[in-house]
Amino acid sequence: MKQLEKVILEKGRVLNDEVLKVDSFINHQVDPEVIEQITDYFVEQFKDTKIDKVLTIETSGLPIAYSVALRLGVKMVFAKKSKSQIVDDNVYVEEVRSFTRGTVSNVTVAKTYINKDERILIVDDFLAMGNAAIGLINLCEQGGAKCVGFCAAIEKSFQGGRKLIEARGVRVASAAIVKAFVNGKPVFLEE
Ligand code: 5GP
Repeated sequence: MKQLEKVILEKGRVLNDEVLKVDSFINHQVDPEVIEQITDYFVEQFKDTKIDKVLTIETSGLPIAYSVALRLGVKMVFAKKSKSQIVDDNVYVEEVRSFTRGTVSNVTVAKTYINKDERILIVDDFLAMGNAAIGLINLCEQGGAKCVGFCAAIEKSFQGGRKLIEARGVRVASAAIVKAFVNGKPVFLEE
């Protein structure tokens, strides 16, 4: 998605060898026009797929997931991150390692919001090593739902997450794919 690549080049900031900051349009301040363009891309990619619900993880995935759900006319659910080890019986829980913080937390969704045979599209801001995605896919499976796709606004292909997701039989669509950071600038995979 060339439009998004242009915005990333203009406004994104490579923090170190691993992390891209997009605080001015996705992760802190949110630019609705950029979110709208990302939404257009995801909706087009999955136009032939029946989707009952959109799932994301708090916090950064929320604006994109909300926008995609609104366009598809379905509900959006976000998994909650909890530091507490005490988890009640009414939730599905998965341990997920945070890419940016390096900590492991319990990620939960109330059992009432993931239902048997539901077809769920997962949406997130970044795909790096795939831990968040795999945790969310596992939550879908715990509830007997099927994950029909994983959408990332920005994939960093050099961190390998896509392979793990595809190994679970889940299709991946990324609006922009960064293949490397070179001299402090993201370099994108050719389409
Ligand atoms: P993964 O679980 O695939 O390793 O990492 C994905 C999660 O980590 C996303 O939910 C996102 O919030 C965060 N993340 C991964 N890489 C980056 C990055 O380069 N920049 C920012 N801002 N967040 C990232």
